[in-house]
Amino acid sequence: EVVVNRIAAGEVIQRPANALKEMIENSLDAGATNIQVTVKQGGLKMLQIQDNGCGIKKDDMEIVCERFTTSKLRQFEDLNSINTYGFRGEALASISHVAHVTITTRTADSKCAYRGMYSDGRLKEPVKPCAGNMGTQITAEDLFYNVSTRRKALRSPAEEHAKVVEVVSRYAIHNCTVGFTLKKQGESMADVRTPSGSTYVDNIRAIYGVSVSRELLEVSKEDTKLGFAMKALISNANYSVKKSIFLLFINHRLVDSSGIRKALDTVYQAYLPKGTHPFIYMSLEISTQNVDVNVHPTKHEVHFLHEDSIISSIQAAVEEKLLGANT
Ligand code: ADP
Ligand code: MG
Repeated sequence: EVVVNRIAAGEVIQRPANALKEMIENSLDAGATNIQVTVKQGGLKMLQIQDNGCGIKKDDMEIVCERFTTSKLRQFEDLNSINTYGFRGEALASISHVAHVTITTRTADSKCAYRGMYSDGRLKEPVKPCAGNMGTQITAEDLFYNVSTRRKALRSPAEEHAKVVEVVSRYAIHNCTVGFTLKKQGESMADVRTPSGSTYVDNIRAIYGVSVSRELLEVSKEDTKLGFAMKALISNANYSVKKSIFLLFINHRLVDSSGIRKALDTVYQAYLPKGTHPFIYMSLEISTQNVDVNVHPTKHEVHFLHEDSIISSIQAAVEEKLLGANT
């Protein structure tokens, strides 16, 4: 059973960046305003996240790494949207099946912090009190130490690190009021650093540079009938890059939609030099009954109801903006 769980977990958590994405979302769910990530060897040796969120109650420490235990489906109204949360209570469990996990956490009403160590979905020994600030620190060490197939499929630590940088950068921009830091362990220079209480444009400047941040246009579009609201910051015709930069959040989850990507690239083709691409940060909210963004941490590509109409509408809004800016 342990081996089966391990293989299943290795399908869910394919690389450090997948695990980190889930951990960041947990910190955001916990109301954190500051999130610090520290990695060693691209997260393979160590992936650590420290937040100042609400913490985990001592009584819950025993079960947090068990499958399908989640504090997030307790309310009655959640039952209606249970199928929009297909992937629930599995992230920490999966991580603990493929890594050694240590959690140190403290809630506001507790006098001290508590620490628990987990393997294969289970707490290894009773939780111990310790010193610690309010919030949660989760450390995953030796990722895939017990799944050789997964280990062999991985890229170099440098490539894994690049994926980690990408995930942190994107969440930092989307959650611009939350401060993010990403560091390699033992280094003083951060690879990503955004202050809390910042703005989208400031964070885009901090991460992607001043040249793009100067050339951004704001676009928004809403359609209650189709059930969506879109807000975006897109580069104008004065800016282009060899490799497209497309940051898409649907209902606040980092996802991909090749439909949206292609539709927007088509619009920009009329404005940009051949073979170059725009910068696009887009936040799309879609009625939860029309989209399932939580299916699987590796299932990046998302589809939704009324997809063609919504994409056409977004495309038109972007086109209109570019045209307006160019005349
Ligand atoms: P889910 O997020 O779907 O509930 P997870 O496996 O990601 O499932 O997390 C399990 C539970 O662990 C969460 O429901 C939450 O109660 C707790 N948890 C995980 N990370 C944090 C965190 N950073 N701060 C507070 N609670 C957390
Ligand atoms: Mg989660």
